[in-house]
Amino acid sequence: MTADLTVVHARTLTLDDALPEVEAVLVGGGRVLMAGSREAVRGAAPGARVLDHRDVLLTPGLSEAHIHLVTYGFSLSQVGLHGARSVSEVQARVAHRVLNTPAGTWIRGGGFLLSELGLGEYPSAALLDEVSPHHPVMLYSRDLHMAWVNSAALRAAGVHEGTPDPEGGRVVRPLGCLLENASALVARAIPAPTEAEFLTAARAGAQDLAERGYVSAHTMAFEAPDAPRALQRLAQQGELPLRVWACLPHERLGQAQALGLARTPGGLFQWGGVKFFADGALGSRTAWLHAPGFADGSGTGIPLDPPELIREVGRAAIELGLTPVTHAIGDRANTEVLDAYDALRPQAQARGIRLRIEHAQHLRAEDVPRFRGLTASVQPIHLQADGPMIRSLMPHLESLSYAFRSLRDAGAVLAFGSDAPVAPPEYRANFAAAVTRVDDAGERLAPGEALTELDVLRAHTRGPALAAGWDDEGIIRPGARAAFTLWDRLGGNAQALVF
Ligand SMILES: [Zn+2]
Repeated sequence: MTADLTVVHARTLTLDDALPEVEAVLVGGGRVLMAGSREAVRGAAPGARVLDHRDVLLTPGLSEAHIHLVTYGFSLSQVGLHGARSVSEVQARVAHRVLNTPAGTWIRGGGFLLSELGLGEYPSAALLDEVSPHHPVMLYSRDLHMAWVNSAALRAAGVHEGTPDPEGGRVVRPLGCLLENASALVARAIPAPTEAEFLTAARAGAQDLAERGYVSAHTMAFEAPDAPRALQRLAQQGELPLRVWACLPHERLGQAQALGLARTPGGLFQWGGVKFFADGALGSRTAWLHAPGFADGSGTGIPLDPPELIREVGRAAIELGLTPVTHAIGDRANTEVLDAYDALRPQAQARGIRLRIEHAQHLRAEDVPRFRGLTASVQPIHLQADGPMIRSLMPHLESLSYAFRSLRDAGAVLAFGSDAPVAPPEYRANFAAAVTRVDDAGERLAPGEALTELDVLRAHTRGPALAAGWDDEGIIRPGARAAFTLWDRLGGNAQALVF
């Protein structure tokens, strides 16, 4: 019996209010059995194996609350444009890939931001044609709400000057950029990855997160259905290195029951949410805003899934035990989703489901208290690039942008993520951004909204667990999953320790 028992010695932050700090944790059968003083824990299991980590800090395991896990896995082998500061830098990275890619093969990439490239307007296909005349190229903006393509890609997809804008999207003229749903016009011409390629990408994404110190992740929809299925396969094969909570696009809810996708707690893979999009994103000027809208005169954004749909399909989701999860960036999008959620609250409460908003990025003061009891799934890391954009595009919303402290004080559960591959899954950047509020321009965005390091730890551990309805995660107390993170210091270097 004692052969299976382990005592971990470490300065331990439990996030359990009943016993916030302990010296030792007893683990057995993948669960925490006891937490307390060294003497008490050793006394309870004298024959147990001892892991001595007295020089490091032990906390509940890190969770990544918003990632497109398989897309992220694919991105690890695509052209990375994070940090590109000019069009010529993008051209150089694409040119390098062209040299190493058979002609005719699609070149994919992402991570650029128009503002970081120094562009005031949408770039043309011709700029990519200069370095890739024969390989079709498709590059996603960091927020994934826009794609930049070359002429070979447009030709392959049959998109030309006369192609009409699709619903919920725009083909920018002269040709080169596709906003929101319009990117599908080109994306659908790219050969779909095989099942084996999905598995490889799922493995790569999950492995990368585990190596960064994460023990669980919430993977959002906005990926092919094969993506979560690949994760499910890995779990069945015993190859999933972390616990995954997955979202289904709302369009597929009708098939959910038939596919056996209702909640299956206990395993490493679980269907948990149904995803809606209330609007676009800031960088692409597609976030849905109340008047006066964007200060550059580009309007009030693009509403996507209508609030009535969120209400109706959300009701069906809750019926199946799934959590409504809605992307809302602009202040108008947040108001509309909160209205829809007000109608869903009693039913969700009765089912023990916490309604959830992704990003909650820009808010009106009167909407903040309405987040009480909801999950605000937010990504501090985006504040760094967005700060300068917020000041120029929507100065009137600056004080309630990334309003973490106000949301916390209003009684929202904060769950931190990165939205990778939109940003790298870097908890360090989330710690820095949430604590200092310093953006890429070196200025502090709404400094009153700063959090403490302990708040950030909570939002990267217990917060996501509560959002997923996992009472046995993100906390160290008897019965909890024995999935921890070891730190040299809080927010420093992390390593996962999973039993
Ligand atoms: Zn996302």
